[in-house]
Amino acid sequence: MEFRTVAETFKKLESTSERLELISTLASLFQKADASNIHMLIYLLQGRVAPPYTGIEIGMGEKLVEEAIARAYGVDRSEVERLYKEMGDLGLVAEHLASQKKQMTLFSEPLTLERVYNNFYKIATASGPGVVDKKVRLLADLLKDATPLEARYIVRIPLGRLRLGIGDATILEALALAKLGDRRYREDLERAYNYVSDLGYVARLLYEKGLEGIRNVQPVVGIPIRPALAQRASSLEEIMQRMGGECAAEAKYDGFRLQIHKKGDKVWIFSRRLENMTGQFPDITKAVLEQIDADEVIFEGEAIAYNEETGEFYPFQITIQRKRKHGIDKAAEEYPLKLFAFDVMYLNGENLTPKPYAQRREILEKLIKPGKTIEPSEKIIARSVKDLRDFFESCVERGLEGIIAKDLKSPYIAGARKWAWIKYKRTMKSQLSDTLDLVIVGYYKGRGNRAKLGIGGVLVAVYDPKNDVFKTVAKVGSGFTEEQFVQLKELLDKIAVPKKPPRVISKMEPDVWVEPKYVITVLADEITRSPNHTAGWDGERGLALRFPRAVSFVREDKGPEDATTEEELIQMYRQQPHVRVEEGEDNY
Ligand code: AMP
Repeated sequence: MEFRTVAETFKKLESTSERLELISTLASLFQKADASNIHMLIYLLQGRVAPPYTGIEIGMGEKLVEEAIARAYGVDRSEVERLYKEMGDLGLVAEHLASQKKQMTLFSEPLTLERVYNNFYKIATASGPGVVDKKVRLLADLLKDATPLEARYIVRIPLGRLRLGIGDATILEALALAKLGDRRYREDLERAYNYVSDLGYVARLLYEKGLEGIRNVQPVVGIPIRPALAQRASSLEEIMQRMGGECAAEAKYDGFRLQIHKKGDKVWIFSRRLENMTGQFPDITKAVLEQIDADEVIFEGEAIAYNEETGEFYPFQITIQRKRKHGIDKAAEEYPLKLFAFDVMYLNGENLTPKPYAQRREILEKLIKPGKTIEPSEKIIARSVKDLRDFFESCVERGLEGIIAKDLKSPYIAGARKWAWIKYKRTMKSQLSDTLDLVIVGYYKGRGNRAKLGIGGVLVAVYDPKNDVFKTVAKVGSGFTEEQFVQLKELLDKIAVPKKPPRVISKMEPDVWVEPKYVITVLADEITRSPNHTAGWDGERGLALRFPRAVSFVREDKGPEDATTEEELIQMYRQQPHVRVEEGEDNY
């Protein structure tokens, strides 16, 4: 496929503000691809060359890209820098220089998708002496043969600044439309994606084996499964009712989630966001080899730091220090982790996810040999609200976060937030003291004494997974320190876009729109009805947060699709005691 076609589609996507149009534009591009190159398209669209779990990133800094541009067009670095200052986007600088280079088309071969992808793959995986020069050469090589429009995107890809506003669900929907003729097949593709968390793999499989192949996807050891997520409830009574009078309840540990794969003596450890973190947890790897009695297995648990002397758990702020790239051995010694295993999804060739929780749990308990690092999460079977309350209280007394109730009959539902798991935390006991994880979609320039910071507040949104869009719920202007505001502005300016991104649904107009990328945790006093926000829109009004304040800086462990969902927001709204009394049956 010619890269020109790809660049032209990118341009069209950039000017699209409707999601459905985004999907049909993407679908017609996908129709031009085949089984040999569809994965290349999918990865490049996301500014990648391989799925995130591989850790393979193109990542080139601005300086290197400037160098490649200078080399490709035979100009000085200082000239590239000057143009960058003027235009504010290296993609546009390359486009400009390419258009000035006369007669280029006479000499150059048209670029193909394959060549662009392969060069980026080489850039991402280059290593050893002379690596910097090699990367610059590979990029310059593409730019020399690129048309001006191609050059714009070839430069934006390694900088991670494509900003096309396309999420996983949109890609799946476009694939369904392109190959199966109906967007609704997204569900089948999503199911496959939830097992293998690799959009390129799913796309290739669809092109090679059709719907049949997609429906037969199974988990693969070494490739992370997208995690099951928990719903929330406002009372233990509600939990018991939803569970039908009987359920399991497990302690909810406040650490970080790890998905562990083992095949023979090879171990992989993935974070909740499915990054490969094996190298960061040598102690867990060792424990898996010693304590897990299976040849091939995929299981999950929550890791939490604990004080070996007192046997007490450390707070999250300490546990999180174990997520680090340097000083790993020292940290492992200082803050040993315990891994509380809570589910098993695959064992010796068998996909266990369709099995009911009760059976999976039994299998899990048999897998773990006694030892000091890994143990099954604490669990009871509850048959009454009192059982739940006693267990919840005993967990909280011991400094745990709360409990997670689990439906005994439910399968493991990868990649989705379902009622099979319901969390009930300490903080949920009082009115709206639970926090929301919200995606920043724009910012307001500071006024008054905020003017010097350049930013006065951010417009934030919840996620609507069904439509794969973000709907606004608040303007957050407090909770950040001055320093954080400055830092935030820097981060946001890098992902600023000229107009409302197509996946954002908003009635508000911030001074600067940004690509939905960063998530912050927000606390508010109350959720109220408001005509200004689009989340939970009932035809007349949406829902808004009253007195919102940030309680975290940008969350590194959460992507935009991990944000609080619209459905959760509606639930939180309904669970406010006065709403239940005043409005009775409301519109939801
Ligand atoms: P939350 O992050 O508040 O949505 O709560 C769900 C998270 O709780 C999961 O993603 C896990 O990281 C964590 N967790 C702690 N203990 C358990 C448990 N026993 N079962 C499932 N998840 C748990």
